[in-house]
Amino acid sequence: MHIVLVNDDGIGAPGIGALAQHIAHFATVTVVAPDRQQSATSHSITLHKPLHVDEVDLGLGGPHRAFQVNGTPADCVKLAVGAFCEHQPADLIVSGINGGANLGLDIVYSGTASAAAEGVLLGLPAIAISLTDAPFHYEASVVVAQRLIEKVASHGLPEGTYLNVNVPPGPYEALKGMAITRIGVRKYRNSYEKRIDPLGRSYYWQAGTIVNLRNEPDTDVHAIEHGMVSVTPIHFDFTNGQLLATLKTWDLSL
Ligand code: MN
Repeated sequence: MHIVLVNDDGIGAPGIGALAQHIAHFATVTVVAPDRQQSATSHSITLHKPLHVDEVDLGLGGPHRAFQVNGTPADCVKLAVGAFCEHQPADLIVSGINGGANLGLDIVYSGTASAAAEGVLLGLPAIAISLTDAPFHYEASVVVAQRLIEKVASHGLPEGTYLNVNVPPGPYEALKGMAITRIGVRKYRNSYEKRIDPLGRSYYWQAGTIVNLRNEPDTDVHAIEHGMVSVTPIHFDFTNGQLLATLKTWDLSL
């Protein structure tokens, strides 16, 4: 099995390093990751400047390789599949392990989730995995990742679908189980702190307080709050089917 491993925290982040080392024991891994922090870059891609790729040594040995890219997480997946994998096609895209939760509507902004989404747009199965909170020790998360990689390898995923996985902090033995969930609603109450720079111009620092609006037992937010790993199948269907029918009654003829 050939796994392309990506993240949005940058190639030097501890989460991707820990996962690369672990995957190298049971599969061939090609790490293709941004050369810097790219969290909250969503699904953006680079069109107006060249992408530079440098091979780096993550100490993986064997057939495993690692590359850093001056682009976004989605760029990395597109490059990996389009440019690096002619000789050994990728079987699976894994994105993570992100340092921080990707729960509820976080996936709209998340580079971690969007890298997995790019994988499925390219026709590959994909998993996004995040460790939700400090302490950011990745030992339990890499074991969870391996279990899900093995399951996806044997069962496959429907076309256009990836798994969004969140793992609560703590040792593996403390995990309360694996919950199959839907995304909850987790919003941020945005606040902007206004400051003045040395030239007298105002500028703003964005901050936000998390507001968990809905925590039904079948949601990802609820699972994490109860010490469980959350596994959510995500797929693209942006069309509001109900309104589609209603719009046809609006008499929009020209
Ligand atoms: Mn991140």
